[in-house]
Amino acid sequence: MYPPLKKYEISMKVPEIKEDQSLIIRLDGIKMSARFKNDEEMFSFEFYDTMKNIIQDVWKYFPFVEIAYSFKDEISLLIDKEQIQHNKYQNRIEKILPIFSGYISSLFSQYLPKELKKSPCEAFSFDARLILLPTSELKRYFRSRQALAMRSFIDRFCSYRYPSTTKKDKKIIFEIEKEIKAKKEWEPLYSGYVGFFDNGKWQVKIADNFMKCWDKYEKTGVKYETKKSN
Ligand SMILES: [Mg+2]
Repeated sequence: MYPPLKKYEISMKVPEIKEDQSLIIRLDGIKMSARFKNDEEMFSFEFYDTMKNIIQDVWKYFPFVEIAYSFKDEISLLIDKEQIQHNKYQNRIEKILPIFSGYISSLFSQYLPKELKKSPCEAFSFDARLILLPTSELKRYFRSRQALAMRSFIDRFCSYRYPSTTKKDKKIIFEIEKEIKAKKEWEPLYSGYVGFFDNGKWQVKIADNFMKCWDKYEKTGVKYETKKSN
């Protein structure tokens, strides 16, 4: 920046990430829940296709992402913290969050089918926040996100099909879960997508067995240098 103006610039750093901590960036679509539900109160298939396309492109724009998990209009990205701290980002929060938010928002606006837009140039936005947590709780974080995702799916499903069901009706809820899981085509709707490295390649899969395969996902995370040479 032009030196006389430099003094006015505010810089905010990501808090120091300790050895035993992990960094996640979580993005959340703005005003999308009401906007993209279909006739059955659920996010439409086209919406999930759009999210899948974004997760596929994550590697292209963010080579320092180790695992990406998306459900509904939210995306959690596990970051290679060393790259954020030491490469061109130099831990600058004011750069990191808008860059993530900007790319993801523009990818969404680009991939969303035109039938779902009110006008051809309609633009959408995702906010971005930092989540700093002990690495020992990482699995719990993703498990909770996926459980929350499933709960929100069941809530929507029930509000449309079984409006009088309460959360206390455990037996009915169990039956509903069975009904949902029997519909193979709904898998992306109730599980979301996971992006991860496998054999040096960025893979995107339906996240149904995400937590069952957690150890595999975690272990296949490769460092930036290796990814870069692919
Ligand atoms: Mg949202």
